[in-house]
Amino acid sequence: MGSGRVGFIGLGAMGLPMAKNLLKSDYELHVAAHRNREPVEMLKKRGAIEHSSVSGIVSRCGVLISILPADKEMQEVLLSDQLLDRMTSEHVLIEMTSGSPAMMKNIDAVYREKGIRVLDAPVSGGTNGAEKGTLTVMAGGDPEVLEETRPVLEAVAQRIYRVGPVGAGKAIKAINQMLAGIHMIAAAEAVALAEEMKMDLNVLKQVIGSSSGASWMLMNKLDSLANRDFAPGFKHKLMKKDMQIAVEEGTDKALPLASFALQLYKMTEKEMGEQDFSAISKFILS
Ligand code: NDP
Repeated sequence: MGSGRVGFIGLGAMGLPMAKNLLKSDYELHVAAHRNREPVEMLKKRGAIEHSSVSGIVSRCGVLISILPADKEMQEVLLSDQLLDRMTSEHVLIEMTSGSPAMMKNIDAVYREKGIRVLDAPVSGGTNGAEKGTLTVMAGGDPEVLEETRPVLEAVAQRIYRVGPVGAGKAIKAINQMLAGIHMIAAAEAVALAEEMKMDLNVLKQVIGSSSGASWMLMNKLDSLANRDFAPGFKHKLMKKDMQIAVEEGTDKALPLASFALQLYKMTEKEMGEQDFSAISKFILS
């Protein structure tokens, strides 16, 4: 089965723009609708081929990409009989969800038994990076599998790092998300304090941007925090999931900041879960 034929599962905020970039790079793209038909319709207009189910996708592709919300969906979809019955040793799975290392290793073990190659490949760079094709891939897996899939990854990503075996991609992504979730709360506190002291936020950005308190989060989210713009982006409920993965991986460590941040994301999930994760700032900014 050709590596030029790519099946794509998970056409959300990240998956849809990534799928568009694969079409731009002339990959034959195979998709199926889940609940929302809109992304499938958009992709079909650009040349994607629609199937009625994931098993239809699998029977037509050599490379299968998944970028689903979380462990639960990874398990439901990637370990379903519907999909596994069609997967053969000719397939390679590129799994890009920010899931847990344990779920990734579990899937890899099942796939390995069938001779299916797996690359654990979560991404960073947000929806903006997904649109521009400038994502960072944190790849866990055999070097040969990474080399085999590199051309596909290059259609969606600018930087590709091999970080270890399967599971290591999800692990480093969890650390990134732990930092990002904490930095967002810190950035919101900086904006709250600056507003309280009647600081010009442009001056703040410029000066702190070249000072030791700078963070990617402050520099990139200051404007939307100032404007109280909480349209996703990266959903609050997904950040809560990521903080939870990090805290659970570190149960033998104290991780006081991550544990506190997780409590805040949990407390606010009901109200803010579908908004951008910067909505966590609402209880800090008045
Ligand atoms: P979204 O919620 O926007 O998209 C999830 C997609 O998965 C939807 O298209 C949904 O389809 C689909 N889906 C859910 N369940 C199933 C299923 N059982 N079978 C097939 N498709 C299914 O999430 P994002 O795209 O934002 O995030 C995806 C992953 O990427 C998450 O793990 C997230 O943490 C990570 N990530 C997100 C970033 C971001 O900025 N958004 C940045 C980096 C990583 P439907 O809507 O039809 O139900």
